[in-house]
Amino acid sequence: MDKKQSQLIKALTIDLKEDGWEKSRGFVMRDVPMPVLDEKRNKEDAISVILKIRYAGVCGSDRGLWYRTAFKDLVRDSLEKEGKSMRINGHEFVGEIVEMGSMVHRLYYDPDPKNKAKIEVGSLVSGDSHVTCGRCYQCRIGEEHVCMNESILGISIDGIFAEYVKIPAKNLWPVDESRLRPEIAAIYDPFGNAVHATSVVDMRGQRIAIFGCGPIGLFSVLLARNSGAAKIIAVDVSKENLKMAKELGAHETILVEKTKKKDEWESDRNVVDKIMKITYGKGVDISMEMAGPFSSVNNSIDSTRRGGHVILFGIKDGNLVIPKFSRVIVRGLTIHNIIGREIFKTWQTAQRILNDKQNDITEAIWKVILKSGKGTILNFKDFTPENFEKAMNENPKIIFKM
Ligand SMILES: [Zn+2]
Ligand SMILES: [Zn+2]
Repeated sequence: MDKKQSQLIKALTIDLKEDGWEKSRGFVMRDVPMPVLDEKRNKEDAISVILKIRYAGVCGSDRGLWYRTAFKDLVRDSLEKEGKSMRINGHEFVGEIVEMGSMVHRLYYDPDPKNKAKIEVGSLVSGDSHVTCGRCYQCRIGEEHVCMNESILGISIDGIFAEYVKIPAKNLWPVDESRLRPEIAAIYDPFGNAVHATSVVDMRGQRIAIFGCGPIGLFSVLLARNSGAAKIIAVDVSKENLKMAKELGAHETILVEKTKKKDEWESDRNVVDKIMKITYGKGVDISMEMAGPFSSVNNSIDSTRRGGHVILFGIKDGNLVIPKFSRVIVRGLTIHNIIGREIFKTWQTAQRILNDKQNDITEAIWKVILKSGKGTILNFKDFTPENFEKAMNENPKIIFKM
């Protein structure tokens, strides 16, 4: 082993052998080996880079991992396949390229002198969290976001909650730091989810209900407003999140109150009735489910007008019941399922929206959702499960500063 390889770095992890899944929660800070490029041993390293992570976003899916409510099978099965028990978590990042494999320049360096954001040593880059195969049918026809053999950073392959990471160069999205704050560049990935979700249906003049005002729901409020939606109704279980949604441009807000239900998938009559009232008994044109709970999926379906669109994005393990499913067909609803981002079409759109100084979206994300960094930017080195959980519960979005 050479010197570099024996170096240890800090990473946030789940070890299924040490920590287990069912009876544990959270991530554990562990010493892991410094990633290295060794093309003799691993050919793929020729098309990979080593990044020094600068900021790392904490996602709703990290919350799912932290509380063990989602991704159990993906984590377990992928670790089994790799013959190990520890996963490095995290997938939203911005970092500096410190080393490149021998083929990276040849394949990914854009020689256009007008393009200031490049893939080269010293560049700042974000990137997609879905590592795709490039060979399957979908990849070949430009639908990489539904690759048959994809892996997801931090879930089914090692992620980026670490000081240094190795990552395939094809996933990288160069960032022009003179045009975008790096803390925002770290959350390109979830912002891209919202861009993807809000671009499947034309929102101009439409009434839209957004169920779930976590970060991606909140981004969707901003984007729906920017796309000319006539009415945006924000729905959430948190008064704080609804207050933010209103600040970001939601016209109406509805608090989901905890009620006793026979089944977890039952819709909330109260919420649906309120939406019906706001829409003069019709229902919204577009529902966006950005939360995950099964009741929220049924709220979305029940609140949508005949012929309307239901956009599903939230993920939860388990079996969902849609009562009287025939209604979905008879009422002519269209259901869209959103996964990831279109690579790199969504990224290009996201870049234009985030770099635009006039639409105020970057400023709104920074000032409202990230509270100008107050309590939302955590020092990676100071991680403790207690301060992390506290910050995660007090803010819709938190970011590690590495
Ligand atoms: Zn994410
Ligand atoms: Zn593929």
